[in-house]
Amino acid sequence: MELIRLIYASGARPDIGYDALTDILVSAGEFNRANDITGMLCYSNDAFLQALEGRRSVVSRLYHRIAADARHSDPQLLSCTVIEERAFSGWSMRLVSWDDRFTARRRAEVMRECGLAALDPDQLTSEKAFAFLQVLAALERRPECQAVA
Ligand code: FAD
Repeated sequence: MELIRLIYASGARPDIGYDALTDILVSAGEFNRANDITGMLCYSNDAFLQALEGRRSVVSRLYHRIAADARHSDPQLLSCTVIEERAFSGWSMRLVSWDDRFTARRRAEVMRECGLAALDPDQLTSEKAFAFLQVLAALERRPECQAVA
């Protein structure tokens, strides 16, 4: 069984709101749990950045379904890598609303650490996207964040 990690970025529909994000999270959680998919979905103003980990066939099919979803547009595949172990284990789909979750100062520090100017799908490289999601995961795994998840 080959495990892969797929990362893509897309533009969020401008009018996407809390309810739509909750819908996505609920359906993602159910499907991903049942299919042993782990990952993280970062939402920032007008963009999504998502990592999906799991069996290659399952992740591939899911990605095609997500890519066709009208709640976002222009998905750009940043990487698809065979992995030995998961980076987002324990999360069927962790949603991080980047702009609400962290202060402007914290966001600036993380962006600097990852060498990013903006979370712009057109400017993200596969390495920077994964580095960013890993930093986010480390922040989300801190005990104080687990308590509010
Ligand atoms: P159905 O629920 O039957 O819907 C049919 C079609 O309508 C699909 O194309 C669906 O994408 C679209 N759709 C559904 N609800 C809405 C709505 N409110 N507004 C507009 N279009 C809608 N699903 C997962 O299982 N795992 C994930 O990790 C995951 N991540 C996602 C990340 C993002 C950024 C987005 C936008 C969606 C994500 N989804 C995820 C949802 C996924 O795109 C599908 O909606 C879901 O998998 C159900 O697929 P379905 O074929 O059963 O569609």
